[in-house]
Amino acid sequence: MSKEHGQIDKPAALPRYIRVDPRDNVAVVVNQGGLPVGSRFPCGLVLIEAVPQAHKVALADLAEGESILRYGTVIGFAKRPIAGGSWVHEGLVAQPQAPALAECPLATATPRPLPALDGFTFEGYRNPDGSVGTRNILGISTTVQCTAPTVDYAVRRIKAELLPRYPHVDDVVAITHNYGCGVAIDAPGAAVPIRTLHNLSLNPNFGGELLVVSLGCEKLQPAKLLDGPLNVLTEEPSVAVLQDAQQGFGEMVAHIMTLAEARLKRLNERRRVSCPASDLVVGLQCGGSDALSGVTANPAVGFAADLLVRAGATVMFSEVTEVRDAAHLISARAATPEVARDFLREMAWYDEYLRKGGADRGANPTPGNKLGGLANIVEKAMGSVAKAGSTALMGVVGPGERITQKGLVFAATPASDFICGTLQLAAGMNMHVFTTGRGTPYGLAMAPVIKIASNSGLAERWRDLIDIDAGRIATAETTVEEVGWEIFRMILDVAGGRKRTWAEHWGLHNDLALFNPGPVT
Ligand code: CA
Repeated sequence: MSKEHGQIDKPAALPRYIRVDPRDNVAVVVNQGGLPVGSRFPCGLVLIEAVPQAHKVALADLAEGESILRYGTVIGFAKRPIAGGSWVHEGLVAQPQAPALAECPLATATPRPLPALDGFTFEGYRNPDGSVGTRNILGISTTVQCTAPTVDYAVRRIKAELLPRYPHVDDVVAITHNYGCGVAIDAPGAAVPIRTLHNLSLNPNFGGELLVVSLGCEKLQPAKLLDGPLNVLTEEPSVAVLQDAQQGFGEMVAHIMTLAEARLKRLNERRRVSCPASDLVVGLQCGGSDALSGVTANPAVGFAADLLVRAGATVMFSEVTEVRDAAHLISARAATPEVARDFLREMAWYDEYLRKGGADRGANPTPGNKLGGLANIVEKAMGSVAKAGSTALMGVVGPGERITQKGLVFAATPASDFICGTLQLAAGMNMHVFTTGRGTPYGLAMAPVIKIASNSGLAERWRDLIDIDAGRIATAETTVEEVGWEIFRMILDVAGGRKRTWAEHWGLHNDLALFNPGPVT
């Protein structure tokens, strides 16, 4: 992807745009606060109306119906004639059709492997199943929402009374949720939340310790939750059943605390050991994107993703609706036709899921995305997939499935930040990288979240929430490659416990949110 900068040198106050691809007939204004009418770019183009920051300017006159090109791709069609120097806002852009899945190419442009990157390590917690934790956390799973307040109460007491005695344990986290009863537990869609809960309890950051709190009469019985290829039921009782308590709430809590303490003792014996970067399972996500996300933060994350793949790690990208319009590009990049077909099958499943719900992918861009200059889902998707870097797609998993593959993997999830994060945790994520343009104080309890701003204005306003400012790419203070290396090194530092993210510093933990495509009874 080549870049033509409207202005190469500082000061950034000069009118400046970024055109991603030489074919593009629109470019994105990068000046903070936008640009007024009459602004003249170094190429000679003059704005005939004001354009907000991160919004698009027409580089030439566009006829009605003419293709609007960004990322070298048709992101829409002009609804009426647009003069060069105009603000190409959302209202002027008609949305194109999504690529037909049946016509998407199968592994026709598989990238050659990049040179291996050796010698990068982090200090992690090695687990019995071979996975590696970046944090040492006691996880307490639940089968049903009925148990959640009791488990939350027990966790408060465990943190206050037990955790201080086990200084090598980082945290105690309850996996509470709204599933487990009042649902059609045998409907096809139920497999998704059930396997999600199963795999969440096996997240590498839980050290292979298992503790499940059950009510007793719920539809999602512990045996159903724990059943699976990764069944880790030990001889030791791992399940506390609240309805077995004879002496009320006090007994329930005491039982949970006894089971918890046995696990805290074992977790506390663990120490970090040097692990190769290939033990990382990094989940990529974006939320609150703007039009700069696709030229700053996401390409920098994509560069870091390539470095991780070269180092042998697993890197997952997700968010089906933000990938759908690039389906033809991703399927072509698959390592094999089988991987391409797996990917297209997930796309087709989601098309049908949205159709049944009376929606389509056009429901995706939020009001904030649009204020941030994203005209539609096509433009958002082209920027979003930049996170996936340039390597071959090696594997695909469905929502809630666990990844066993190294390299770049597509984990199919909705784009909703909390649902995507939850499903990536179930897939085995031990590090999370999150890009944002509009800003969100997002964080997860189960894995560290590194937040990257697409614009420096956000990074400056939220200096105590944003970990890396990729907006410096827009102002030519730095490059995609430099920020990519910065992200890669920060992933290793945070994974190894040498650094903490802002979300960890403040203890910002969004709730887990299950994806349940099945019916509720
Ligand atoms: Ca998202």
